[in-house]
Amino acid sequence: MQVKKCERCGHGINITKPNEIQEIKCSHCNREYIITSKTKYMGFAIVIISIFIFSFFATAISTLLNISAYTLLLPLIALSFFMFNWSLYLLAKFNKVDYKTIS
Ligand SMILES: [Zn+2]
Repeated sequence: MQVKKCERCGHGINITKPNEIQEIKCSHCNREYIITSKTKYMGFAIVIISIFIFSFFATAISTLLNISAYTLLLPLIALSFFMFNWSLYLLAKFNKVDYKTIS
């Protein structure tokens, strides 16, 4: 997926995995870019909203199956560490990720 056109040479910069999204490098001229803080906030917002939705379902499932909600919330916390990159990946699909040059 192309996330940016290089500002120096116009070469398209592609990523294949969500964990590559925060810092990118032009394969043509080696200029490096990092996501802007605005993009980071948008990523965090998506993570927080997702956690609210997931915890709602976790609570509902735990009531239905009669197990502790904490048992379901623990994997959720672990998952949230990966969710940030996934949120950014999702934003990139909608062209909402901005980069700035690392100087
Ligand atoms: Zn370049």
